Amino acid sequence: HAKREGRDDFRVYKNSMTSEAHELMSKSSGLKNALINKELFVVFQPQYDLTTGKIFGAEALVRWDHPTKGVLRPDEFLHVAEQTGIIVDLDEYVFHLVFEELLSWVESGLIDDDFKVSINFSGRKLFSESLLQQLHDYYHVSAKVVSKIILELTERDMITNIKQCEHAIHQIKQLGFKIAIDDFGTGYSSLATLKHLPVDLLKLDRSFINGLADESRDYVIIESILSIAKGLHLDAIAEGVETEQQLGALKNIGCTAAQGYYLSYPVEKEELLNLLAKQSQE
Ligand code: C2E
Ligand code: MG
Ligand code: MG
Ligand code: MG
Repeated sequence: HAKREGRDDFRVYKNSMTSEAHELMSKSSGLKNALINKELFVVFQPQYDLTTGKIFGAEALVRWDHPTKGVLRPDEFLHVAEQTGIIVDLDEYVFHLVFEELLSWVESGLIDDDFKVSINFSGRKLFSESLLQQLHDYYHVSAKVVSKIILELTERDMITNIKQCEHAIHQIKQLGFKIAIDDFGTGYSSLATLKHLPVDLLKLDRSFINGLADESRDYVIIESILSIAKGLHLDAIAEGVETEQQLGALKNIGCTAAQGYYLSYPVEKEELLNLLAKQSQE
């Protein structure tokens, strides 16, 4: 009897949960296992200097080598990580992977001195003492590696508490990290972010690049953002360049850095190192 009742109770409980909540629950335990079993890895999308045609950096992007579903992209699991708070561990894990990788590249002389790697970062933990402590620890492992790392944050994450964010960014920058605003121009407060926060780099959202070849509005918007960046002595990079026309238009406007499928898809680390080795022989 007791057993049966228990089961019925469970059924009631189960039915009262939305199917969405169920999915979230099972996906989040999958993600936790993924972290434990080291199923997450990163790919690198090369970033190009448009004046020389050379790769000057790369963006690290997380992937999940799922035991049954194959390799998953962030849009298939990042929302679960955000909703459950697992994102904090995930970002920490990705950061650690990239840092170790960079350290070995630096030690074996595989990358140029000014090579940079961007790491995406959810704003969740930005203000925490523990994050600062961790970044400090990495600084003590290798200040040289730290100086090659750009942390990418979105406007949304930065603007929620601008005073605290300003404080955190100052401290993070003091260690030698650089800060980028990701998907720039898509938030509610792009200019306020720029006014208050000492960032180093703007990443022009790909929604502006999409129509660049035939939409004069996008052209003007990109041109204006680049002019603001120049005036504020910030670097700027165009994201999501998919066609030769878009690349041509960007060069015409005077954009000097870009990433996108037209230039290169994200690649595994071995392939990135191959590309870098090839160009250093040129
Ligand atoms: P993002 O930071 O804006 O990264 C650029 C995304 O655009 C990547 O998607 C990249 O593969 C894709 N992309 C690059 N070139 C092109 C192009 O020419 N056309 C199009 N349509 N897409 C292009 P991905 O790897 O699926 O990542 C999606 C988002 O997930 C990233 O957007 C970033 O916000 C987030 N993300 C990725 N890795 C991490 C991570 O380790 N931590 C956190 N918190 N977020 C991450
Ligand atoms: Mg990014
Ligand atoms: Mg991002
Ligand atoms: Mg982006």
